[in-house]
Amino acid sequence: MSPLVWYDLFLFLLLSGLYVYVFATVRITNLHKVYFLFHFLMMLWPLCQIAIDLTSDPLLQLFYVILSFVALSMLGCGWLLLTVFLTGNTNKLRGKTLFLLLAPAVIAAIGVVINPHNMFVMPLEGGYIHREYGAWFWVVITILVSYFFASLFVLFGALRAPKSSPMIRKQVKVTLWGIFVLAIFAGIDALLNVVLREWLPIIPGFTSMGIFLSDLFFVYVIKKYNVFELVSIAHEDVINTLPYGILVLDDNETIIEANKALRHYMELNVGDYFDMESLLGSVRVEGSSKRFLERYKRKENTLSQIEIIDERDLVRHFIIQASPIVDSYRMQIGHIITFQDVTKERFFVKEMNRQNEVLQERNHALDRISNELFTANQKLEELVLTDSLTNCYNRRYLTQQLMHEVITNIQYKIPFSLILFDIDFFKAINDRYGHVIGDEVLYRTAQAVKQAIRGTDILTRYGGEEFMIYLPHTERQLAEKLAEQVRVAVQSNDILVDHEIKQVSITVSVGCLSIEDFNLQHVPDNPEGYLIQLFAAVDKALYQAKQNGRNRIEFADAQSVS
Ligand code: GH3
Ligand code: MG
Ligand code: MG
Repeated sequence: MSPLVWYDLFLFLLLSGLYVYVFATVRITNLHKVYFLFHFLMMLWPLCQIAIDLTSDPLLQLFYVILSFVALSMLGCGWLLLTVFLTGNTNKLRGKTLFLLLAPAVIAAIGVVINPHNMFVMPLEGGYIHREYGAWFWVVITILVSYFFASLFVLFGALRAPKSSPMIRKQVKVTLWGIFVLAIFAGIDALLNVVLREWLPIIPGFTSMGIFLSDLFFVYVIKKYNVFELVSIAHEDVINTLPYGILVLDDNETIIEANKALRHYMELNVGDYFDMESLLGSVRVEGSSKRFLERYKRKENTLSQIEIIDERDLVRHFIIQASPIVDSYRMQIGHIITFQDVTKERFFVKEMNRQNEVLQERNHALDRISNELFTANQKLEELVLTDSLTNCYNRRYLTQQLMHEVITNIQYKIPFSLILFDIDFFKAINDRYGHVIGDEVLYRTAQAVKQAIRGTDILTRYGGEEFMIYLPHTERQLAEKLAEQVRVAVQSNDILVDHEIKQVSITVSVGCLSIEDFNLQHVPDNPEGYLIQLFAAVDKALYQAKQNGRNRIEFADAQSVS
């Protein structure tokens, strides 16, 4: 045999290996991968059948027989795998199940390759074009039939399941037809060319035809129902790049899908049972977990939400949203649960609230300081405008006040009066009793006068022992009456000093001025000058009172002021 044959075969195997490698690693769905593997195995069978007949080398013939049966052994496993994918049961393909699924096919293939004591195949007429199958052949066939029944079991299971969508049902039905066609053709092949080989001529190509026809059914399913959904790859990409954790549960709360973001926070695996109640029990919950769980368990077709605080390791805040997955009949068939990490947001809100509190405290402190300042200012103002000895307003205040009021009075023809009084012979009191007693007399006199006048009248210490009273809205007649009241109040106000031993009695001389005739008055251009004129006139009247014998009242001539 030419070594070139082995070279070509080597290249063929190398290329096949690359084919399998590419489909195992490219970014297509697992269903794609399984289908292409399955298809490749199906192609091997007819290829090897031709190859056996084309060579006269018994060793090569044996190789092709072995290769075709290895492919056939694996084909059964491929069937089952494909039916599992087509019926949407991929979540069950893990660990032990996957091993159980592959093991019989691998065992069958190993037996075929080793062919111990020709237990699988024996040459007839010095080659393998005509051959006799041994016991292992029937083992391979039994394994194939078992795979066939397992596939049927999976397919019928999907048909019976009430949750299966109409689309899955249709694709399962067509697949079933594909498997039946293959089984019938392979059965006929085995019956005619193996069982009845001694009595009937060999009729080749039955199994190849069956494989071809069943593949047509598979291709139909894949094309018609768009099973190779690229969209699902896109979905997978999208959910894996989302910053939220996403969990898809079936009706029995089993995890069907968990995205990368979620695995970052929680140790969850596809196929695990997800217990919402124990999750909520293990963390702090904002709001009522009871109400959330009630809605969640009641399987309402509405979205429910709750916030949890996981304090197990780091403190983390999550918003959990549970939304139902419904089928085309509006029946709930599972849940999508999202976990949104809001730790940063909550931290910022907390920090903002804290800073607000600090700011508020500072504002309160500022308010307090500003109030204290206001009171201090008021006190200062009082100090500036009052006389500390008598507690009366001082001359500064009187001047400020009259500057506005007098002008307004004249503008609106409102009568007003001024009283200026001076204690008679006060020097003598100072001389006789001393300054301290003199101060006391001044204070008591001011108190007595305050009692004698109205609340609206303004009593001011004009200087030394002289006091001025401003009487708003007061004509001469009333002013005279009030001046007399003042004079009498002072006169009758005996002041007891030195523990009632000395009794001081004083009198005052009073000057009085009333502005009431507005024919004589016109609004002054210079209020300050006008005020000086008023003070001078009333002072003149006081002087007159002193002159006329003291303890009396004299009226100023209003005409002298204009
Ligand atoms: P007259 O009847 O002419 O007014 O006689 P008088 O003694 O009162 O004379 P005059 O008005 O000139 O004297 C005022 C005196 O008042 C002078 C001053 O010693 C005294 N005096 C002024 N202010 C105060 C003060 O705050 N306390 C005391 N104890 N005496 C004062
Ligand atoms: Mg005096
Ligand atoms: Mg005086």
